Amino acid sequence: MQNFIQIKRIEPGKKPVNERVNSYEEIYNLYKSDEAASQAGRCVQCGDPYCHTRCPLHNYIPFWLKAVNEGDLQKAFYLSNESSPFPEIMGRVCPQDRLCEGACTLNDGYGAVTIGSIEKFITEEGFKKGFEVNFKPIKNDKKVAVIGSGPAGLSVATFLLRAGIAVDVYEKEKRAGGLLTYGIPNFKLDKSVVQRRVDMLIKNGMNLITQTTVGKDISFDEIYEKYDAIFVGVGAKKSRMPGIENENAKNAYPAMKFLVNIQNKLFGEKCDIDVNEKKVLVIGGGDTAMDCVRTAIREKALKVSCAYRRDEKSMPGSKKEFYNAKEEGAKFIFNATPKRVIVNENNEVIGVEMLKTEIKDKKVQIIPNSEFIIECDVVIFALGFSHQKLEFLEKYVEFDKWGAIKVDKNYQTKDKKIFAGGDAIRGADLVVTAARDGREAAKAIYNLLS
Ligand SMILES: Cc1cc2nc3c(=O)[nH]c(=O)nc-3n(C[C@H](O)[C@H](O)[C@H](O)COP(=O)(O)OP(=O)(O)OC[C@H]3O[C@@H](n4cnc5c(N)ncnc54)[C@H](O)[C@@H]3O)c2cc1C
Ligand code: SF4
Repeated sequence: MQNFIQIKRIEPGKKPVNERVNSYEEIYNLYKSDEAASQAGRCVQCGDPYCHTRCPLHNYIPFWLKAVNEGDLQKAFYLSNESSPFPEIMGRVCPQDRLCEGACTLNDGYGAVTIGSIEKFITEEGFKKGFEVNFKPIKNDKKVAVIGSGPAGLSVATFLLRAGIAVDVYEKEKRAGGLLTYGIPNFKLDKSVVQRRVDMLIKNGMNLITQTTVGKDISFDEIYEKYDAIFVGVGAKKSRMPGIENENAKNAYPAMKFLVNIQNKLFGEKCDIDVNEKKVLVIGGGDTAMDCVRTAIREKALKVSCAYRRDEKSMPGSKKEFYNAKEEGAKFIFNATPKRVIVNENNEVIGVEMLKTEIKDKKVQIIPNSEFIIECDVVIFALGFSHQKLEFLEKYVEFDKWGAIKVDKNYQTKDKKIFAGGDAIRGADLVVTAARDGREAAKAIYNLLS
């Protein structure tokens, strides 16, 4: 260990740009065993590891890095899977530069330990060797309903099943996974990786009830009567729109509509959106905007541009994803905000009138009379998400002024039988925070039912 002077930070290889823009395959390779061991050996083994503190799951990072370095993959696999419901997913999708790696002592000067890539290696390699996560036999005396099978729902299900508690998961879509399946694109997270976890949970007792919307196909009152505890993990996926003229024109889409349609096409299902040979403009500067840009490139758009109202250094998403989008050919326009969508006589998008902006007192200010036009055939709004209205819960729980479900430190709502977590309580956030909510709620539910 502590080999950070002799060994430089080396990330796993990426597929060449010309290969990756023609495919939805994940762009990052997996470390080979010797590469993972040598990169893990860079860890300083800090007495008070900041990476562990900054990781929302408080993963035992220095311990599993040491085990990988010493060639004890089994120990690393069990340690990593103990605190995390799906470490190989987090290793792929966490914005590590803002979390564990951003807090690594080596980040100043030497380059952080490649924690995320090693985390992905441990479980991928462990699965190949046939290692299994420990689950207890289901007792069936108590039963929990989980509403929503996104990372929050799958996490609570994982930890309840591991404690031997029976779980029914209700999911309105055809497939489980929430935004792991229908939001985050395949080139970041292959859908087989999500399905493998879902299959593991089903094998270990999860009863997954898909294409069933709670509040429509089954009433919440019925669920409330039937179960000993309920976890609500329904996310917050209502796309924000800019509130400008013609924003609902033909070929103007909220980000999720675009991404879900393309994902359905990749599943071999109905897709109503075609950007082939079109000029696409994405409005927004976060990770969802980068996902839309990179998806449009793979859909063979003629030109893909992205306009953001602040400057490059203020972009809210992961730097890694921005550089990947740039490498793949996206053009960026900074300090610009949309004024109106321009349409032809058929109400189809032909451009967007933009306004230039500047930052004053940390706020975005529009520069008067600075209009300019970006020609495009498709515009995609990636401006963030808000809460959908959850009428079926109104008589049971309280909401804050933004529509988030209010919970206490145990993820318990006003009704002691109902718990909630993930984007439904915090607004659009991260996979890892949803996973943490699920794990902590599972502990609280276990305590309630014991
Ligand atoms: C395009 C995109 C890319 C992203 N990329 C990243 C990334 O790279 N890294 C990262 O950490 N985070 C990323 N995020 C954020 C992350 O995906 C979310 O924070 C996370 O998925 C939230 O998990 P959740 O379980 O709370 O909700 P969701 O993932 O939204 O899951 C909620 C589930 O509940 C179901 N549901 C809703 N209502 C009902 C009902 N009434 N009955 C039954 N089922 C219902 C939904 O169908 C869905 O399956 C991204 C988000 C988007 C939109
Ligand atoms: S879960 Fe995310 S923050 Fe935590 S160690 Fe893994 S990659 Fe880092």
